Amino acid sequence: MRRLAAAALAAWAGCAPAQPAAVAECAKLGKEGRECLLRAMRAHPAKSAAFWEAVQSRPIDERLGPAPAELVDYLHLDNAANGFPEKPRASRPSAEFMADMRGAIADLPSAVRRAFDATFAGVWLVDDLGGTGYTDTYVDAKNRPVGGFIVLDAAVLGKFTANAWATWKENTPFKPGGGWTLEARIEDSAGDNRRSAIRYILLHELGHVLAINRDVHPRWDLQPSEVPESARFPFYDLSWTVNRRENRYASKYDDAFRERRWVVYYRAPKHFSRDMVPIYDALKATNFPALYAATSPGDDFAESFVTYVHTVLMKRPWEITIRKDGKVAKTYRTCWDEPRCAAKRRILEDLLR
Ligand SMILES: [Zn+2]
Repeated sequence: MRRLAAAALAAWAGCAPAQPAAVAECAKLGKEGRECLLRAMRAHPAKSAAFWEAVQSRPIDERLGPAPAELVDYLHLDNAANGFPEKPRASRPSAEFMADMRGAIADLPSAVRRAFDATFAGVWLVDDLGGTGYTDTYVDAKNRPVGGFIVLDAAVLGKFTANAWATWKENTPFKPGGGWTLEARIEDSAGDNRRSAIRYILLHELGHVLAINRDVHPRWDLQPSEVPESARFPFYDLSWTVNRRENRYASKYDDAFRERRWVVYYRAPKHFSRDMVPIYDALKATNFPALYAATSPGDDFAESFVTYVHTVLMKRPWEITIRKDGKVAKTYRTCWDEPRCAAKRRILEDLLR
């Protein structure tokens, strides 16, 4: 859930940086290696609130830049623990790229900037992340999550304008072919640039940061079966339950929307392009604002957050068009003015008040 767009780049074949000592030590343990890596991550300075304290005294638009060495070290552990072969390096972004980053942050509505003041430890740039975006929590001395930091892959972000990125992303659940195409439009032609793409990707990750400590959904470091039965999460409760026997989250719509479980983004697709129309028909009968929202409780909230801020607060376009042999077969828009998403909208309005 913390990763967006794992398949964006082919493996980078340049000189790999030295592995952090913990990765090499844990690798010697064979099967126990993953547990060793997870332990090293929990004890890592980048996970502690103390490490991020200095950053948090800065204004929100100055909490960004090339990733600090400790964070790069932490990402190596995370990649090794989760089977990503990439070895991230601190990025050296161009002046133009940094101008787009600052512009993307400057574009954020004031309600959004206010919501992040206390819990937001910045946006840090690496190359070769193994994904486009990544968010993780940091914890206080009692191991309670208190806030989050965001990592973006500058090399991936450098390649896309907004509509090209959104179209690429929304096609990843479907095997291409059969004359079917899907186009996503999140900007008009004047705004269809890299700065808008960065802003949109950043808003999704900010949604993950906002979810920390607000009881909108269960913690993402818990197994579904570990979520206490009595726990209540007002946002999550509108769409999700736990299937305890199978240790997975289920949506409340799964009887009518059976295809949902096989919707996967950024990895090998499980659906065919001919399934696009029935899947978007089924989605329209749910309270998920976008298809990616239907994949997990965490991404439900992050996608709800980005589509709400983008379309309602920033009045930007958001539309999916499915065509068969060039002829429009279906148009899907997000749901913030429809009754199906009214209860979720009220929660977002409260969070951004
Ligand atoms: Zn996400």
